Amino acid sequence: MTRGGAPLGEFELIERFFQRPLATPEVSESGRILLGIGDDCAVLEIASGRQLAFSIDTLVEGVHFLSSLPAEALGWRALAVNISDLAAMGADPWCFTLALTLPTVEQGWLEGFSRGLFKLAERFGMRLVGGDTTRGPRSLTIQVQGTVPGAALTRSGARPGDLVLVSGTLGDAAAALRWLDQPETQDTEHQRFLRHRYMYPEPRVALGRSLRGIASAAIDISDGLLADLGHICRRSGVAARVDSRTLPLSPALRSELAPTDAMRCALGGGDDYELCFTVPPERLEQIRHWLDQGRISLIGEITAGSGLQVCNTQGVWGVPEPSGYRHFE
Ligand code: ADP
Ligand code: MG
Repeated sequence: MTRGGAPLGEFELIERFFQRPLATPEVSESGRILLGIGDDCAVLEIASGRQLAFSIDTLVEGVHFLSSLPAEALGWRALAVNISDLAAMGADPWCFTLALTLPTVEQGWLEGFSRGLFKLAERFGMRLVGGDTTRGPRSLTIQVQGTVPGAALTRSGARPGDLVLVSGTLGDAAAALRWLDQPETQDTEHQRFLRHRYMYPEPRVALGRSLRGIASAAIDISDGLLADLGHICRRSGVAARVDSRTLPLSPALRSELAPTDAMRCALGGGDDYELCFTVPPERLEQIRHWLDQGRISLIGEITAGSGLQVCNTQGVWGVPEPSGYRHFE
């Protein structure tokens, strides 16, 4: 924290909460970490034959998260949304940097935040290699680095005839936003599940890895299925048809929300951080086990042209509206 009466200095703060004893190795399939926290730059040596994929995301209090969100969930989520971008590219997570802006140094908050952050980092063997710490309205920026052997998955390779698939279940996080500011103690069991889906999203790294050389395009769902599938279509110069009757909805979503509302969350709600991807039909066999285990679902197909067509629960095809999705009533 910059000078000016803070009870804990910047360097003590970094040392105490962010300079972890090394739980993850310096050498991994991605390469070698030569220098981490403590110098002017982090220095990495990338393993030969690998491409570096990196991405950055900022979360601002009051814009991207409520101030009532527990610090531990925020630490997890801030890193998860970044790792999810690596997963969408088929990259192996490697390391990350953290720019932290805080109005005050609250040690309890920092403890919770770093606990959530490192719980997820250690899950994927990621090292925090540097960052910046300043005073101001609360905001968190994380940049992640990952590597890919061969070529990364992109949004631009979908072709007419390809199948459209998604991982996990859709709409859970969007549903949870409706009561996120209410005390957790009043949650039903289903509400607890949905709230957990919002607070602790699971980046689909293993799936992303196994889609290398198989998926023709991929994206992580941060803005909602239709918006993100729309990005694949625009970048690939194609159109897509989605049958809303095949969307994977969790039992919790089905039981907490009316069918119309649940569908609205699944099609338009962001924050789930599942993957949406396209696969040429002849390659589907190679990911059959993911389908058989119910971890991915077939929801539509890519066609020639532009834009999206959605089949509603009555079996009627139409063009979805940018917001509201009123035809799915
Ligand atoms: P500089 O002024 O050269 O940018 P700083 O004084 O800001 O360096 O930071 C000192 C060291 O601590 C650097 O290695 C930096 O990457 C690291 N660092 C600063 N803030 C954080 C943070 N929030 N998390 C992790 N590392 C940090
Ligand atoms: Mg600095």
